[in-house]
Amino acid sequence: MIDRPNEDEEGGTFSPVFDKHRSELTELIHEIHGRGWSPGTGGNFSQVLSREPLRLLVTPSGVDKGYVKPSELLEVDADGKVLVGDMPPSAETLLHIVIAQETNAGVILHTHSIWNTLASLSEKDGGYAISHFEMLKGLQGIRTHEHTEVIPVLQNSQEMNSLGEELRKILRDESNPHGVLLKGHGLYTWGRDIFEARRHLEVLEFLFEVSVRARSLEQ
Ligand SMILES: [Zn+2]
Repeated sequence: MIDRPNEDEEGGTFSPVFDKHRSELTELIHEIHGRGWSPGTGGNFSQVLSREPLRLLVTPSGVDKGYVKPSELLEVDADGKVLVGDMPPSAETLLHIVIAQETNAGVILHTHSIWNTLASLSEKDGGYAISHFEMLKGLQGIRTHEHTEVIPVLQNSQEMNSLGEELRKILRDESNPHGVLLKGHGLYTWGRDIFEARRHLEVLEFLFEVSVRARSLEQ
């Protein structure tokens, strides 16, 4: 059952559970912005509110992620249509929908950091491989540093329909990646809940920085 908002005459209040999602996601977005991973209105963020039918809480387009308010988050359906909210959704909402449909994600985070952008440029054969770091164990299901995590890298595009279909294919074909990079653009990662998604983002941002720095030391 969908936890629908209880709007008053002004349309301004939401049910307690809905409020909780909005404030938790907003708090995380502010933290991500504060860590420099979503500068200049970059990045977008979402939380799955229900799966049948699919409902997502998403950030609106073009807002500074350091100042976004819980009440500004939008509720969209599986086509990206806004059901609750009065701002346009991010152009990349469709990619969040694809990830929600093809993975067990409860929270989806998209960042434009320096290190994930640099890592995306070092792609080889459509992926960015990270091996032998203890921090790999922070990714769900990884038990040893003797693991090679290959983050798929998609060519960047402003054509969201075709990019969304490429992303869908990767998520179906690859063996459960913990994230996907868009070349010269940024990272999508996710988790079953807000804690796992936050951990995956923190771990991957660490791994991108340390591996890109390590590679530059080797040259
Ligand atoms: Zn982006």
